[in-house]
Amino acid sequence: IDRSNCPPDTAELGRSTWTFLHTTAAYYPLSAPPPVQNNMLNLLSSLSLLYPCNWCANDFQKDIKVNPPDVSGREGLMKWLCMRHNEVNRKLGKQEFSCQVKDLDIRWKDGPSDGSCD
Ligand code: FAD
Repeated sequence: IDRSNCPPDTAELGRSTWTFLHTTAAYYPLSAPPPVQNNMLNLLSSLSLLYPCNWCANDFQKDIKVNPPDVSGREGLMKWLCMRHNEVNRKLGKQEFSCQVKDLDIRWKDGPSDGSCD
């Protein structure tokens, strides 16, 4: 059955949210001016309060309290977000992802050098 017009379950919501977050981080300024840093802090804190999966939101709130967001610039933000995502991956028994900037750029911004995503 084609479920693309059905309400999202936690998996689809998660995939879409991670796509938005990693992509936003990939296009974040290399060195972010203070007002932009503030916008990102507000986005992440609001997300942790409003995310429509209660147990996900609670764990995410706890995690970002212990590990405050690095909003200084794209590399720090991409790595920080990758580590938060890996925290959830571990919890769900999924494979961890490499948090090297080059691997994150390939996945979320540039695509592989063989052109298969062009
Ligand atoms: P996803 O985990 O959605 O990942 C999508 C793609 O991102 C992967 O295919 C991979 O290419 C890439 N990727 C994977 N890991 C990383 C990484 N570390 N850095 C960069 N890219 C990466 N689900 C629950 O069941 N319980 C929860 O408590 C829960 N908490 C969540 C909290 C938040 C803030 C979010 C956004 C989602 C949460 N989810 C939770 C959803 C869960 O993380 C997954 O999105 C969902 O299980 C679907 O997983 P997936 O295997 O399709 O890939």
